[in-house]
Amino acid sequence: MIVYELKCSSGHVFEGWFRDAAAFDRQAAAGKVACAVCGDSQIAKAPMAPRLAKRRDAAPAETKPGLPPEAAKLLADLREKVESECDYVGERFADEARRMHYGEAEKRGIYGEASDQQAKELVDEGIEVKKIPWVPRGDA
Ligand SMILES: [Zn+2]
Repeated sequence: MIVYELKCSSGHVFEGWFRDAAAFDRQAAAGKVACAVCGDSQIAKAPMAPRLAKRRDAAPAETKPGLPPEAAKLLADLREKVESECDYVGERFADEARRMHYGEAEKRGIYGEASDQQAKELVDEGIEVKKIPWVPRGDA
């Protein structure tokens, strides 16, 4: 599609959409392009460069490195919730999780670090662990 700014003999300016430049020429010559205000078919292209009618949202999305802001916020909220509600057990995480699972320690929410191997072993033992991507705390 192509958009022309058009002007009738009375000076009304309006936009006309055409499939292409040739379509405008054909329709204007046949008197089929009429002023949107007064119906005049003496139409001329206003002195303005035609612009291609391209949908704005067809432009490539702006790419940002890292997580989309909503996801980063979600993870930050999750981190805050975990930190406020759970005990930090650091690298003892796997041991603590196991002790709770086998009734050797009181069940509570804990968080800490575990290697992929440790996490896999816990899961194999039927111990529920959740892995969450730990986002750096925003200092803003
Ligand atoms: Zn007019």
